[in-house]
Amino acid sequence: MNLFELTKALMAIPSTSGEEEAVGFWLRDYLESLGWTVQLQAVSENQNNVIATLNDTPRVWFSTHMDTVPPFIPPTEDDEKIYGRGACDAKGIIAAQICAANILKNYVDPSYKDIGLLYTVEEERASTGAKVVNNHPLATKCEYMINGEPTDNDLATGSKGTFRLNIRTSGRAAHSAYPEEGDSAIEKLIDILDDIRNAKFPNDEFFGETTVNIGTIGGGLALNIIPPKAEAGLAIRLTTKREPVEKVLREIVGDRAEIEVLSCSEPVRMLEIDGFNQKVVRFTTDIPHMPNWGQPLLLGPGSILVAHTKDEFILKKDLEEAVELYVDLAKQLLAKPANA
Ligand SMILES: [Zn+2]
Repeated sequence: MNLFELTKALMAIPSTSGEEEAVGFWLRDYLESLGWTVQLQAVSENQNNVIATLNDTPRVWFSTHMDTVPPFIPPTEDDEKIYGRGACDAKGIIAAQICAANILKNYVDPSYKDIGLLYTVEEERASTGAKVVNNHPLATKCEYMINGEPTDNDLATGSKGTFRLNIRTSGRAAHSAYPEEGDSAIEKLIDILDDIRNAKFPNDEFFGETTVNIGTIGGGLALNIIPPKAEAGLAIRLTTKREPVEKVLREIVGDRAEIEVLSCSEPVRMLEIDGFNQKVVRFTTDIPHMPNWGQPLLLGPGSILVAHTKDEFILKKDLEEAVELYVDLAKQLLAKPANA
């Protein structure tokens, strides 16, 4: 199966987060047919990470995730592009990594076989697969982890963190004609959110600006009732550790609302390698959840700007370029002296 066929075959199997079982089985069978030793690591009853090796000394690993955001969009193509869910995030990347790994595998020099493949579940929700695989015994063999996410084939030298939380206000319901009898949770929430929009959060010279998205908002019961409850969900893209950002946030909120922390991953610095275009990316990945898997690198074909959209696509020439870049990167890493 060539690169484009493999991309489309992976995309044709729906694997929205939580439903990765079928694509995992397919990958296992495919990799075994190519001579890889494959294990499935159970993450839940019907979710498995896929782990593939060629020998007992896999020093350099390729990884990304098998799940996609909803909805499933079947693959289509023209001369230049492959369209559909997972084209760039991240099934095209899986295909490019497997093609690169098979090129390395077929070299005569046996040291090029010191590679592994790791495909996780549920990255798009909470990196559940990455958290489970972090304690896998093979992690100790891994010196370099080349993670794939759409970076336009640039080598990401850093990725921002993500701090997700809910802010909840409460008040007292009353007839809207007698507002003095009630206490509006929505007005309180609006005030808090406005203060957050105008706040100065700490930034970082390397990672850039800390940004806040008010992603969800809800509350109230009816137009003629003073609202007793309201809630907003925020995703903060961290450029510093969580603590100074949370401090600013808690000072703003004070006792006006409750804060529920949903998840947090801090910004990560990744390995820099000469000869690659380098940049900081704003999204987060599985990497912060797999600290046991060696030094992280991040590179992948495609643009994060089309990932998660209905128009998701990957340029075929970017897929081909990614295969070359992955081979090149792995060769440079394999040429470094092995850890004692
Ligand atoms: Zn992704």
